[in-house]
Amino acid sequence: AAKNAGKDQIAVFEPGLRDAQLERTRLTAELRRALAGDEFTLNYQPVVNLIDGDICGVEALLRWTPTGGRPVRPDIFIPVAEETGLIVPIGRWVLEQACADARRWHERYGISVAVNVSGRQLREDGFGAMVLETLVRHELPEGALTLEITESMLLATTPAETQRLIGVLDALREHGVRIALDDFGTGYSSLAYLRTLPVDVLKIDRSFTIALTEEGPHQTQAFTKAIMELSASLHLDTVVEGVETSEQAALLQQMGRPLAQGYLFSPPVPAPRVDELLDTAPWRNAA
Ligand code: C2E
Ligand code: MG
Ligand code: MG
Ligand code: MG
Repeated sequence: AAKNAGKDQIAVFEPGLRDAQLERTRLTAELRRALAGDEFTLNYQPVVNLIDGDICGVEALLRWTPTGGRPVRPDIFIPVAEETGLIVPIGRWVLEQACADARRWHERYGISVAVNVSGRQLREDGFGAMVLETLVRHELPEGALTLEITESMLLATTPAETQRLIGVLDALREHGVRIALDDFGTGYSSLAYLRTLPVDVLKIDRSFTIALTEEGPHQTQAFTKAIMELSASLHLDTVVEGVETSEQAALLQQMGRPLAQGYLFSPPVPAPRVDELLDTAPWRNAA
């Protein structure tokens, strides 16, 4: 019986594995054509100050629709782009596009545009110089650009390499680039990284937002609160991700009035829509 079970397992899992491999190969080939084919766009999601309802920043989120096909989710294609190294040229395109839009928004509204950066990009020789060159070319002042990194991108590196990457981030900060630690609280060593990483912003992962209103022990709320207090005591900006309900927003206000990002306010939207939102300030409190 055990032998049969083993055979069944192989029969079940082999085609699945092969399909996954085929799918990755197909995606890779399509991704290679995507940049040349103008298939990428950026959407932007506002970050809202819960005290006054003002938009204080936007996060650039990459969208890919293969020509003649349906949109592919970032969760699907970003990991493939990272594995193949295609994230390097793609990331350069994202930064270029985001900086072009950031100029106008920073001038008129003083907001910062956040760009997600993969470990692969950060480790690439010349990454810091490339970012600075882009800032200069677009005449972006200090504070106009935020780079979002995750703690996990430092996991696979040696201590010496980690030191080098911290040096790259430090140099960027000296030129007015803000550094945000994304998905905070999901890694294994969040606190350890907070001590070593040069950061200006903590983005608290959506799982903590969900925990706010979850049934069950009060401890779930306590975790979110503790992270917010930690962030405040380190004088970091705190952005709470994935705020979907007014109940969550109200609780967050009571807890420490952080900045919030989520579907309650807006999904990621095309650049022209961001201009409209900045002009009409739909969440600004009536004075
Ligand atoms: P992230 O940086 O943590 O971005 C937040 C994700 O949460 C986005 O998903 C956003 O659309 C989604 N989101 C925002 N508000 C809500 C909400 O209220 N509820 C829920 N359920 N989700 C919400 P998206 O756009 O699918 O991106 C997924 C991930 O892909 C990003 O997570 C980021 O890690 C990566 N990514 C996206 N664009 C880029 C890029 O240009 N470069 C790199 N390297 N990674 C990117
Ligand atoms: Mg992000
Ligand atoms: Mg995030
Ligand atoms: Mg997240």
